[in-house]
Amino acid sequence: MLRYDEPVFRPPSEARSLIIQATIGCSHNRCTFCGSYRMKKFKEKGIEEIREDMIIARRIFGEVKRIFLADGNAFTMDSEKLLEIIRIAKEVFPELERVSAYACPADILNKSPQEIKMLTESGLNLLYMGVETGHDGLLNEIKKGVDAQEMVEAGRKAIENGMKLSVTVITGLGGKELSYDHAKETAEVLNQMKPHFTAALTLILVPGTPLHRKYERGEFHPLNPLETLQELRWMVEDLNYPTVFRCNHASNYLPLKGNLPEDKERLLSTLDYGMAHPELLRPEFLRGL
Ligand code: SF4
Repeated sequence: MLRYDEPVFRPPSEARSLIIQATIGCSHNRCTFCGSYRMKKFKEKGIEEIREDMIIARRIFGEVKRIFLADGNAFTMDSEKLLEIIRIAKEVFPELERVSAYACPADILNKSPQEIKMLTESGLNLLYMGVETGHDGLLNEIKKGVDAQEMVEAGRKAIENGMKLSVTVITGLGGKELSYDHAKETAEVLNQMKPHFTAALTLILVPGTPLHRKYERGEFHPLNPLETLQELRWMVEDLNYPTVFRCNHASNYLPLKGNLPEDKERLLSTLDYGMAHPELLRPEFLRGL
């Protein structure tokens, strides 16, 4: 049996990858909307423990082509340690093709371009980063730890040093008051960053988080499903870089998928159709994280 410190999260596109927990929890763990790792105290696992996990996985699964390094932001580890983990992974799984991990913007900013290049060349060549919003005030409010300019810098630095970058933004994160500005400024940050993959999630208020407490106090006014689609439309209409765009997460009211820019008109028409036919939207009780 593989040993996991639950709960374990991974991007939907890593559903078929071997999950190796290189870290437990998230070193940042402060975002006001996020409850994913609140119950975990952040720590890095030791190299020997990680090697044992891989050897056990080899016995169970045999061939492994893709590894996702969990938890929250395994990319925060020292580059040398990450390189050693990848070296061991290639030793245990000679057929390995790709290693990926979650990264906070600060983790990327804290590494030198040379370190990122070395990691990319070693096989860790896909990072998942939560952009959440491009709105400076909202980034500050949700305690993301960086402003919009630093967010763009982090994304560009990863891409310019060879990484594939997949980012998520969260519709509804600014509530009713910030909806339009959140959409437009997020599009602006994405346009500057130009990530290869862009996914839009929809806010789910998680009990126990600061944002949920704000909602309970009546200080946060969530969007309804139609307002959420309108916000997404405001954002998508401004996106002007080539990317694989997805909005097909369990949190979303209306599944969308396409390549930008060529599918933009289709995505916008689908959003218009969804707004005209609210009965087709995913019901609240079926939404999930
Ligand atoms: S959103 Fe990401 S960076 Fe923020 S606390 Fe959650 S896992 Fe950590």
